[in-house]
Amino acid sequence: MRFANALALKKAMIDAAEAIIAAEPELTRIDSVIGDGDHGIGMKTGFSVLREQLAATVFPTPYELFHASGLCLVKCMGGSSGVLFGTLFISGLDVIKGKEALNGADIVAFLTKGIQGVKSRGRAKPGDKTMVDALLPAQSAMELALKSTDDIGEILKAAETGALSGVEATKNMVSRLGRSKNFREQVLGWPDPGAISVSILLGGLAKSLSQGL
Ligand code: ADP
Ligand code: MG
Repeated sequence: MRFANALALKKAMIDAAEAIIAAEPELTRIDSVIGDGDHGIGMKTGFSVLREQLAATVFPTPYELFHASGLCLVKCMGGSSGVLFGTLFISGLDVIKGKEALNGADIVAFLTKGIQGVKSRGRAKPGDKTMVDALLPAQSAMELALKSTDDIGEILKAAETGALSGVEATKNMVSRLGRSKNFREQVLGWPDPGAISVSILLGGLAKSLSQGL
């Protein structure tokens, strides 16, 4: 699909929320070993509320959809990741203001600003073993994909692949932020749960927007 309107993007957000909800056991298992164990439940709670809210609302433009989504996640999810996933959808809103539908370049610009927002909000640096280590390779992969395709599904698929390479890389990182910092070398070999969530979110959006309406 070359253009995605608010309806297509709403469906994609609902599909992505379902993928996150389904991943709760995996996220809980990993965060229980290298964190405080609440990441899966936090994600499931936040994205369940989001799914209900989106399903019950008509959004005239992508701006309203992502504005409501970001606020909902900040409010309903809690934990560091609630604020950070909310920020991902809120920071780039000015890029899409007034647009009826988004093309590939709009989506890349929107998510790129969102990723910058997550970085400045959480102050995580590359290599700290956080979701930023999935978001940055996702951003590079999207930017590269945009040079050869205008298909939104393909661009987001590239973002998912970039995020998954970031998830792999977090296995070799020692946490420098958040609660898993206390686990020191014990976290080696385990991926960061927030990074996994990023890959699932992008994968859910990609799959949905590859299908068309
Ligand atoms: P909490 O750390 O409050 O228990 P969650 O368990 O919901 O929050 O989320 C943990 C995930 O949040 C981590 O796996 C990491 O990816 C991400 N995270 C935590 N702190 C930061 C930060 N400052 N910047 C970016 N990501 C972070
Ligand atoms: Mg936690």
